[in-house]
Amino acid sequence: MFNKNHENTYDAIVAGGSVSGLLAAREMSSKGMKVIVLEEDHEIGTPEHCGGVVSQKGLETLGIIPRIKTIDNEIKRAIIRTRNRELEIDSSNQKVIVIDRRSFDKELAFQAQSSGAEINTSSAVLKNTFEGGVFKVKIKGGVDLYGKYFVDARGVGTLVNKGKRSILPSGQYEIYAPWINKDTIEVIFDADLYPGFFAWVIPTGEGKGKVGVAGRNINPNESINNFLNKRGKPYSIIRKIYAPIWIDGYVTPFSIGKNVVVGDAAGQTKPTTAGGIFTGGMGGIFAGRAIADSHGENYDEKYLGRYEDNWTSQFGKEFDRLRLMRSILERLDNKSLDKIFSDISQKTLEKISAAGDFDFHSIALKQFLDTKLTLNLIYTLMGNEYRKVVRDLSKI
Ligand SMILES: Cc1cc2nc3c(=O)[nH]c(=O)nc-3n(C[C@H](O)[C@H](O)[C@H](O)COP(=O)(O)OP(=O)(O)OC[C@H]3O[C@@H](n4cnc5c(N)ncnc54)[C@H](O)[C@@H]3O)c2cc1C
Repeated sequence: MFNKNHENTYDAIVAGGSVSGLLAAREMSSKGMKVIVLEEDHEIGTPEHCGGVVSQKGLETLGIIPRIKTIDNEIKRAIIRTRNRELEIDSSNQKVIVIDRRSFDKELAFQAQSSGAEINTSSAVLKNTFEGGVFKVKIKGGVDLYGKYFVDARGVGTLVNKGKRSILPSGQYEIYAPWINKDTIEVIFDADLYPGFFAWVIPTGEGKGKVGVAGRNINPNESINNFLNKRGKPYSIIRKIYAPIWIDGYVTPFSIGKNVVVGDAAGQTKPTTAGGIFTGGMGGIFAGRAIADSHGENYDEKYLGRYEDNWTSQFGKEFDRLRLMRSILERLDNKSLDKIFSDISQKTLEKISAAGDFDFHSIALKQFLDTKLTLNLIYTLMGNEYRKVVRDLSKI
């Protein structure tokens, strides 16, 4: 029998103590639910596997005003390169910052705890079964816990069986190098070296930052080493991480019964950049609120359904467009990338600089593609799919 007052019994058990799980926990516990977050690693925010690039507006929407020590840096411009071309976008209007996820995730944990949630590290969820209307959750080395709701916030690992082609290997090194400019993020497209994705340099300060790569069938380690060798010495590698990224967008349904999936685990990362702090964080918030609304004596599934409705009405169209952009990117060779870049006018760059929105970047991407030459290229590359692509692009 479910007894909420029993110490091993909760209204909701959250598996995964990162951005989406902690925000879901914050929302549920602030509405009076008894919530526990279980994190398999020994420390919240560690090991960090993120570039930490996010907009200030996005963070405010998540209900977070980061402490000074959480903000590593502010980005003023982006340099985007192909083999033979280079474009510069002034991003100062977009107020993009780089956060230290180790510190940021701890801030979220503190918010969740202050709202009443309990958080436990070194608590890997091994198994989750639904018996007699209650979830029974087995924890490595711990006692079984019982909950009315189970929130899966375990990241990309949850999606491993949903499609191998939708997951790319990625790697990121923290480095010190004099060629890292504090103000400037770099994005490097090369269809041979990073098929279907790109390499990046994210500054965390003058002369320091994160260099990363992702791409279809690449060896991230080799790939970053080659990147660094090309840039030349001196540089020092301070830390290395490797992590898979999901590039196929959101995966519905977000909930089955009272089993609810949030964040990366639900594919809530942008198909173009795999960025998910804001979109996955909002997944956690929408889910937490919907669970709290549905919970109680008069349980009603329709309240839980609002999670998916709210998330898809905010991000669904944007993600569909980004998926379309991705399908174009996957087919571009280096010659085509150079051509597209050479066809962008200074006026277009100024327009993107003035009006670009970091959290909804499909409009900026469309401006990149919306030239006669590029549309002709897409026609050649996409054959029968061209009409659909142009129709969908015109709706943006
Ligand atoms: C190299 C790289 C760079 C990135 N850069 C950016 C960026 O610049 N900007 C951006 O917005 N996004 C970026 N992202 C994506 C971003 O990191 C994620 O979208 C975000 O962290 C998603 O949060 P989450 O809570 O859904 O999942 P995660 O952050 O993946 O957290 C899942 C948590 O679950 C825990 N867990 C897993 N299994 C279990 C288990 N069995 N039991 C208990 N706990 C478990 C994990 O230890 C982890 O703490 C990047 C990702 C990568 C890989």
